[in-house]
Formats: sequence, structure tokens, C-alpha cells
Amino acid sequence: MTDIRTEEILKNYTTMRCGGPAAGFAEPSSEEEIIELLAYADSNNMKTLILGAGSNMLVSDRGFDGLVIRIGKKFGDLEFSEEDEDGYITVTAKAGCSLAWFGNMCARKGLEGAEFCCGIPGNVGGGVFMNAGAYGREIKDIAVSVDYIEDGAVRTADASECGFGYRTSLFEKKAKEKDIVITSFKARLHKGDKEQIDAYVAELRGKRTASQPLDVPSAGSTFKRPEGYYAGALIEKSGLKGFALDDSGAQVSPKHAGFVVNNGGRANGSDVMRLIRHIQDKVYADSGVRLETEVRLVGDFD
Ligand SMILES: Cc1cc2nc3c(=O)[nH]c(=O)nc-3n(C[C@H](O)[C@H](O)[C@H](O)COP(=O)(O)OP(=O)(O)OC[C@H]3O[C@@H](n4cnc5c(N)ncnc54)[C@H](O)[C@@H]3O)c2cc1C
Repeated sequence: MTDIRTEEILKNYTTMRCGGPAAGFAEPSSEEEIIELLAYADSNNMKTLILGAGSNMLVSDRGFDGLVIRIGKKFGDLEFSEEDEDGYITVTAKAGCSLAWFGNMCARKGLEGAEFCCGIPGNVGGGVFMNAGAYGREIKDIAVSVDYIEDGAVRTADASECGFGYRTSLFEKKAKEKDIVITSFKARLHKGDKEQIDAYVAELRGKRTASQPLDVPSAGSTFKRPEGYYAGALIEKSGLKGFALDDSGAQVSPKHAGFVVNNGGRANGSDVMRLIRHIQDKVYADSGVRLETEVRLVGDFD
């Protein structure tokens, strides 16, 4: 079976740079290994956490008292089919492939539609789970089907069955009840004008660099977009842009109020969590809107 390491520090596997130890930590490289690990956790009464690039997570300082199954580079192949008679190519990406690599390789091959993926720092599995999206496009717009493991077997869901919605999917819903591991997804993309595609990738990169604090650790947008509002605008309206409760390093980004950042990676999970709760309370008091975290909270914060 895949090697299970103990006491691996999760801070090293999240873009927010927070998080204590995992009781067990494994990086499988095949579907069979994932199924074995899930069975091992089940028979040892261990909780599981499926980890991608850790770019949408805040992990507590106490870490995770169970088995972390990291779906990363070891499970990250990317394949392109031949062009079909309608000019489409099917791209199959394993869940551990980074969204940036997927988007960039599609662009390099002159395929249109995956440009939005280039700047999202997650992996394909996390992207499908969250229905990641940017600049008007989401995973749901390009997905044809998704393979995933449920109840010890690999299953396939067509895109129409994937329940994609705003930062949610069938898998995100099912994972509340049982272990679900996304193993790959297929996208069907059309050949386009390579120069235009490259220019669009560069344009999106420029927009992102101009508006987001990409040089400081964060987990992206901290809060979901509340119906009819923008979280960043509400936070700014409450006077919290650039705000910090203390000198822990946790701060509302001065560049984009929707991002909580961890300056120097020195804040721990509870510092970040205290700031998140403060923002939620202040925005609620000022605007009557209760901000919900988009960032997934892992472990115990109380
Ligand atoms: C600077 C920055 C910018 C960002 N910009 C965007 C953006 O523009 N748009 C956007 O949508 N997001 C954005 N994000 C957030 C994040 O990158 C996305 O949500 C991404 O899809 C998360 O992927 P991940 O692999 O990092 O998932 P993780 O953070 O590792 O996990 C997220 C959730 O998915 C589950 N999961 C992960 N992999 C699997 C799998 N293989 N099978 C089953 N469950 C799995 C985890 O258990 C967890 O619940 C940004 C983040 C940062 C730091």
C-alpha cells in the first residue's frame, strides 16, 4: 500500500500557510491506491481529508486527526485525443494535474475555452469539486464528464449529472456524507486562433496581477459572493480594507478586501480565524449580510 507518513505538517501543503500535523498523510499515484487508502481509513475508524493543492483551505493549528489523502503531482497526467470531425479535442486531466498546467497546455495546443484556468492555483480535482471559475467561465462550461471514487469503485458522471453550481458540485454535496475522491475529468475543447488565445491568457494574467495579492499567502476569496452583493465591497464599506486585529500577520488585503492574507506566512490558523470572525460580525452589524466562508475550514478552531 502507499506509504503513510505521520505528523506531516499541513501548513506546508496549503497556500494560506497555516495548519498543524496530520495523523496520517499519503500521496497515492493510482485509483487502486486511493481505494486501498480509503478502505484502510475505514477499517481503522479514521476520518479522511482529500487534499488537492490546498488553495481553498484554512487548516487549524491542531491539524487533522485522520488520514490526509493528497491528490497531487503523482496523479496528474494530462492526455489529448485526436481532433474529431467537428474540430473538437477531448482533454483528459487526472485530478492531481494543476489547473494552471491544464489551462496552459490547452492554450499551447491552440484550444479555446480553458484560458480562465491558467491563473487559478488549485488542482483539477479541487477545481471540479468547487466548480472553480474566473472571468465569467467555470469548470461546468468545459466539463464533459468526471470520474470519481465512491463506495470503493470508480464511477463516471456526465457533466449534466455533476450538479455544478456557484462553487459547488455533486461531489461537494456527496462529500458531506461519505468519502468521495474525484480522479479525473474530461473537457471537450475546440481549436481556435492560437494568437488570440495567448493574448487572452496574458490579458487575464494581467487583470489578476493588478487586482489580487498574489505575492502574499492566502486562500483566494475568503468569502462566497452573497446574493446581490460582492463580499469585497461589503468589507471595504465596513472600513476593513487593509485591517489587521494584531501583528500576527493575518490581514484583510490592502489590495483586495475579499482576500484575507497571511503576511510572511507567520500567522497561524487561529489568528486567521479570529480575523474572519471579526469581518463576519462587523459586516453583519453594518450591512445586515452574514458572509459565509468560501474557504473550507479543516480541523477544530474552537
Ligand atoms: C491567489 C488565489 C486565487 C484564487 N483564484 C480563484 C479563482 O479565480 N476562482 C476560483 O474558483 N477559485 C480561486 N481560488 C481558490 C482555489 O484555487 C480553488 O477553489 C481551487 O479549485 C481549489 O483547488 P485545490 O486543489 O487547491 O483544492 P483544495 O483547497 O485542496 O481543496 C478544496 C476542497 O476540494 C476537496 N478536494 C480537493 N481535491 C479533491 C479530489 N480530488 N476529490 C475530492 N475532493 C477534493 C477538498 O477536500 C476540499 O474540500 C484562488 C485561490 C488563491 C490562493
